[in-house]
Amino acid sequence: MSIEANLHKIKSAIPKDVTLVAVSKTKPVNDLMQAYNAGQRIFGENKIQEMTEKWEQMPKDIEWHMIGHVQRNKVKYMAAYVTLIHGVDSLKLLKEINRQAAKNNRTINCLLQIHIAEEETKFGMDENELISLLNSDEYHQLQNIKISGLMGMATFTNDMEQIKKEFSFLKSLFDKLKTRHPDFSILSMGMSSDFPLAIECGSTMVRIGSSIFGKRNYA
Ligand SMILES: *Cc1c(COP(=O)(O)O)cnc(C)c1O
Repeated sequence: MSIEANLHKIKSAIPKDVTLVAVSKTKPVNDLMQAYNAGQRIFGENKIQEMTEKWEQMPKDIEWHMIGHVQRNKVKYMAAYVTLIHGVDSLKLLKEINRQAAKNNRTINCLLQIHIAEEETKFGMDENELISLLNSDEYHQLQNIKISGLMGMATFTNDMEQIKKEFSFLKSLFDKLKTRHPDFSILSMGMSSDFPLAIECGSTMVRIGSSIFGKRNYA
């Protein structure tokens, strides 16, 4: 199927109030333009340099989401244009994003990444780290960032019960925080293999790559 057909199929499978991030990492601008021409305006990338090259070449009404792990020394390359950073996992990183956002006279929206998977290799904070960040004076002094919610990645497994447990945990954490942080509106969870389950568990934003653009070749 074409990228356009894939996109339409995914869009018809997700409710209107769930935001679709088209994950275009490793794919050429040509492929992204096919999605753009089919109406897609939100793209997700996991490498700052690659995202910046694509941003430079593509129409300027696109929202660029950084969904990968962010190195602090690279924040400056995306600070002028990035719409949402999904993978914020420390106060240190948040402070650097704030610094670069201020330089650009912007407020940058961020999600805090929570570690919900079994794999140690996946990034993210645990509940205690999250609470202490949100309660810290340093966080409250940051004027150029806005935390809009949480992001998580489930374990890479076929065990749907396991995945459901992880998504449900993240959703309950999100609901708990929302009472004290009314700005929290985004719960980013779900990819090609598990997005229907993520939506069932309360996701408001899904990040879908291979089901739109086809398999990635990392060679
Ligand atoms: C690559 C990636 C995705 C998309 O994965 P697919 O399985 O291709 O849909 C989603 N989220 C993150 C953080 C990713 O790195």
